[in-house]
Amino acid sequence: PRPMDVLHSKIKDTKAQRETIKVGESVVHWFKRDLRMFDNRGLSQASEKAKEAGVPLICMFVVSPQDYQAHLTSKARVDFDLRTLEVLRADLGELDIPLYTTTIDKRKDVPSHILQKFQEWGAKHVFCNIEYEVDELRRETKLIDTCLQQGVDFSPVHDDVVVAPGSISSGTGKQYSVYSPFFKSWVKHVHEHPHLLVESPAPSANPEAARKKFKALFDCEIPSAPANKSLSAEDRERLASFWPAGEHEARDRLDRFLAEKIKSYQAVRNLPAANSTSLLSPHLSAGSLAARTAVRLAQQANSSKRLDGGSAGITTWISEVAWRDFYKHVMAHWPYICMGKAFKYEYSNIEWEYDDEAFRRWTEGTTGFPIVDAAMRQVKTMAWMHNRCRMIVACFLAKDLMLDWRMGEKYFMENLIDGDFASNNGGWGFSASTGVDPQPYFRIFNPLLQSEKFDESGEYIRKWVPELKGIEGKAIHDPYGRGAQKQAEKAGYPKPMLDHKKCRERALERYKVGLGRS
Ligand code: FAD
Repeated sequence: PRPMDVLHSKIKDTKAQRETIKVGESVVHWFKRDLRMFDNRGLSQASEKAKEAGVPLICMFVVSPQDYQAHLTSKARVDFDLRTLEVLRADLGELDIPLYTTTIDKRKDVPSHILQKFQEWGAKHVFCNIEYEVDELRRETKLIDTCLQQGVDFSPVHDDVVVAPGSISSGTGKQYSVYSPFFKSWVKHVHEHPHLLVESPAPSANPEAARKKFKALFDCEIPSAPANKSLSAEDRERLASFWPAGEHEARDRLDRFLAEKIKSYQAVRNLPAANSTSLLSPHLSAGSLAARTAVRLAQQANSSKRLDGGSAGITTWISEVAWRDFYKHVMAHWPYICMGKAFKYEYSNIEWEYDDEAFRRWTEGTTGFPIVDAAMRQVKTMAWMHNRCRMIVACFLAKDLMLDWRMGEKYFMENLIDGDFASNNGGWGFSASTGVDPQPYFRIFNPLLQSEKFDESGEYIRKWVPELKGIEGKAIHDPYGRGAQKQAEKAGYPKPMLDHKKCRERALERYKVGLGRS
């Protein structure tokens, strides 16, 4: 059975028993990837419970270095989460709600530590929002039982996605593995269940006595990042200026995007130089913005009441947020993708090159293909990359360089500020043709044509590959092939590391052989 189904059954089977538990001296909300007060299902329920019983709400967050290792969490992401926590701690403090934070090295020690804290705080009810990765689902299932043995009601709640995994399926009852019918069904489901978009009430202030009673918890400082996940001071400052953290920033960014950019989103979202997307992915990944909030507010900005009607910009953007749901549903339904396996297992037989030098040039942005290099350097500076460029560099890695797509997937997780297993795995699977609803294996992006089409004036390239700044016209896309050889050489820009045409042939052959079709 799937870990998601096991968790659902456990929640259902233990409901009656958990309902007999009386409220203790406090109620706990355990924050994970839901770092916000606004529109947070688990937090709202915890606050409601505490309010009903007139006991304090305590919030907690555990930093687990081993967890960061296991999830390949980037330094940028760890830093963003910790900055987000600072904002959260301050906001909760204004409501006299403490945020207990601690560092627990080993993941296996987290459950026993938090249980000990529940006992210490006399908490009989604990809420958290569900994460859909395998290990987390299994941990939460176990925690329900362990907590029950100690008389504690542990309640994992759906919050991270608009539509919970398992609640929509195709006409034949199967999980969707193609996006368009999924989206149709997603829209229908949300229209039929309007509560899915309803905002959860913000937590109520704690009784004043909570400050006295749990004084030590109010003094808890946000832990620093583990040594191997710490940014240099310079990187930290740069990333903080690109990516201010916290839910207020997320809301401001969303409001600005809705007011200024969403209407033209469909027309220009593929142009990396246009700065036309919301840049909300770090917030959606850290949970400083709920996908539900994003969809609700986008819908309110629309002239149509339908999620798939009215402004094309708005519906397209909503459908992008729904891609995020789609990949989480896929992960919950086919958990083997969390274990390094291709969604399409028949694609497991492809012969990859294991060429460290080629991989290094890809990561450094010195492939000699300006659009690829610009994108890879954008990651180095911003810990973020435009979606079109993610597809270009992923296709380049898997099909031009013939490197195992999992190397790229890992590099992205280790370097992106918005690293999210399901979306990243989905994006790599799409580009390498090994994933769910992928581009067909014979669709191989020509990096030069992609560059001409989506960065026509070369503005994006000039920004991120400054040594090519002086090259004018179309030569920017291919300086060595279009008469700007001398300038490129002088600027120290490398020659293309491969011949795309030949590599394309190689990829087609390797995929065919791997699939047993040659
Ligand atoms: P917008 O265009 O404003 O879209 C709004 C939101 O919708 C995004 O913030 C994101 O949450 C969601 N979204 C948009 N496109 C996608 C998509 N294709 N798949 C899933 N969700 C989407 N996104 C991540 O959040 N984390 C990742 O680790 C990640 N890795 C990727 C790897 C590859 C190879 C590819 C091709 C895509 C990846 N994406 C990932 C999806 C997408 O590139 C980013 O979500 C998007 O670029 C973020 O920019 P934005 O917030 O301005 O997006």
